[in-house]
Amino acid sequence: MAVHDLHLLGSPVLRRQSAEVTAVDAEVRRFIDDLFETMDLAKGVGLAANQVGVATRIAVVGVENERLAMVNPVIVSAEGKDRAEEGCLSIPDAYGEVERADRIVLEATDRDGKPYRLEAAGLLARAIQHEVDHLDGILFIDHLGPLKRQLLVARWKKEHKGEGVIKTIRPEHARPE
Ligand SMILES: [Zn+2]
Repeated sequence: MAVHDLHLLGSPVLRRQSAEVTAVDAEVRRFIDDLFETMDLAKGVGLAANQVGVATRIAVVGVENERLAMVNPVIVSAEGKDRAEEGCLSIPDAYGEVERADRIVLEATDRDGKPYRLEAAGLLARAIQHEVDHLDGILFIDHLGPLKRQLLVARWKKEHKGEGVIKTIRPEHARPE
């Protein structure tokens, strides 16, 4: 397994429409393991392939006890509305209130290449919607009002000026204080 570098706001791959996966082979399985490892190290609750520079429809979610690998995920139904604060590993330290469906039904393929259907609510439903958005080149800031988005992006760019759009994640204990 390997930890991948994260692509941050400004990296064009985050805005790409990701391509369907044709087969879940050994390479895809290894990549899914890498996504989980990268997500865990970065302390995220989800990670999409294009956040590590790969524009294919693969994402992982880790919420509470649920660990989900999603290949070619599709949200087939969505109900209710819920607002909550969201962040994103690709826009570190920025948060905003996003309205999402409260309950969803997901159809996807798992790490073994088996199709599955899952009903989700609350935080899990939110994380899945956030990750599926990534695969379509959509970021959580796109759900904010235009003024809020502008302010958030302007502040983020100022605070992260000169840092580039690729970030190497390091274990916390190795981080310089
Ligand atoms: Zn994200």
